[in-house]
Amino acid sequence: MQIAIIGTGYVGLTTGACLAAIGHQVTCLDSDPAKIEALRRGGVPIYEPFIEEILEEAGERLCFTQSYSDAIPGAEVVFIAVGTPPLADGSPDLQYLRSAAAAIGEHLDGDFTVVVNKSTVPIGSGNWVESLIRESSMARVGRAPAEFAVASNPEFLREGSALHDSLYPDRIVVGADSARAVDVLSNLYRPILEQSFTPPGYLRRPDGVAAIPLVTTDLASAELIKYAANAFLALKISFINEVGRLAEKVGADVTLVAKGIGLDRRIGTRFLQAGLGWGGSCFAKDTSALVATAADYSLSMPIVSAARAVNQQQRERVVEKLLAELKIMKGKTVGLLGLAFKPNTDDLRDAPSLDIARALIARGATVVVHDPVAMPRARSEHASLGVRFCESAEQVADHADALVLVTEWDQYQDLDWAAMAKRARTAFVLDGRHFLDTARMARDGWKCARICG
Ligand code: NAD
Repeated sequence: MQIAIIGTGYVGLTTGACLAAIGHQVTCLDSDPAKIEALRRGGVPIYEPFIEEILEEAGERLCFTQSYSDAIPGAEVVFIAVGTPPLADGSPDLQYLRSAAAAIGEHLDGDFTVVVNKSTVPIGSGNWVESLIRESSMARVGRAPAEFAVASNPEFLREGSALHDSLYPDRIVVGADSARAVDVLSNLYRPILEQSFTPPGYLRRPDGVAAIPLVTTDLASAELIKYAANAFLALKISFINEVGRLAEKVGADVTLVAKGIGLDRRIGTRFLQAGLGWGGSCFAKDTSALVATAADYSLSMPIVSAARAVNQQQRERVVEKLLAELKIMKGKTVGLLGLAFKPNTDDLRDAPSLDIARALIARGATVVVHDPVAMPRARSEHASLGVRFCESAEQVADHADALVLVTEWDQYQDLDWAAMAKRARTAFVLDGRHFLDTARMARDGWKCARICG
């Protein structure tokens, strides 16, 4: 099928590459000329495991453009995957969605097209996008009115395993009021739903994955599914962090508590890792959007609001714990291991590292940082942060009064910690992810503390 994707960021590029790899003809559009130019030259603007390989596999079935008149006419499905970042009041900024919808309406040809909201958008946006497209399509002079339907197809991929999640999702959700639109999207996703595509060697099909459930709903339900899913995952993280604080007081080990409760299949082990809490582009923005939507209907969401507050406090605990250890922050050097909000991505949106660095610098500390992939992005997007970048993780320890393990990159486990202890002024590490083996760290000369329990 002929597909257009508006917005070629983490979601748009991943979706486009996967759909092209399974046989569709895909045009990815972005309003950022530098991004499109880089992609055309074979560059990849994001870090994501296997993205180069799948782009290679997609080959000529995937092309990149800045022009709506290249992308939209002839497309049977148009995905909207533009950003919906948070505004100061917590509600999502819909300016990119508005301009994408208007431009789509101007360029739709006469044939039936399904316009799909893949961006995470507030409940009711499907209807809003439909009216924007209708208005801009009607405003065109001398052309037949476009025939189209709007659907919601929320995205559940995780950065760092985005390609795996796109090819082997737990479920695909399609919300639409038009049965014809649901049919078109079922056909589009058939190779994934039936797992009939040939898996690439670098992204093998997991054992037991045979068919993927398709959940079809009305528009509003699909939109709420996305917010409710992210809010629930956020709750799990904040729940275990709250338990971790109590674990610390009573002398329990929160990692063992998490294991003990997570093996109950009703609960599950995932998203129960105590530590610095969530970051990234989605959980903070989506939980605040959910609370803002509820407020529009005079509802409060105390559970979701509490999860947000607990998450923020986890970041503040870093400063509290360092102060307890160092007593005075002014003039001290603190090394941060990891900048990305989680491993296997270079995404720095709402990364705990940024809040932590700002808080330490505000108290007079010098902050030195390392990340295996996110440093170029940090240098360009956060030049004013005021941290010193180190080319190696080992350098972060040089003359450091304390280290904070912020992102659990695998390679940080294999560092020569014994040698680093000798380079540090004080061999103290605060493990923000309950990731380091405390017994081994002690053997290597480190005093190791955890963020909770
Ligand atoms: P992103 O910022 O990486 O990409 C958005 C892209 O849209 C940018 O490249 C931007 O230049 C482009 N853009 C903005 N306005 C445009 C326009 N009018 N026309 C063409 N291009 C335009 O964002 P992302 O992380 O890919 O997220 C996209 C959406 O998907 C968001 O709503 C997000 O909440 C949702 N989502 C993201 C993830 C994730 O892990 N990143 C997961 C699930 C859902």
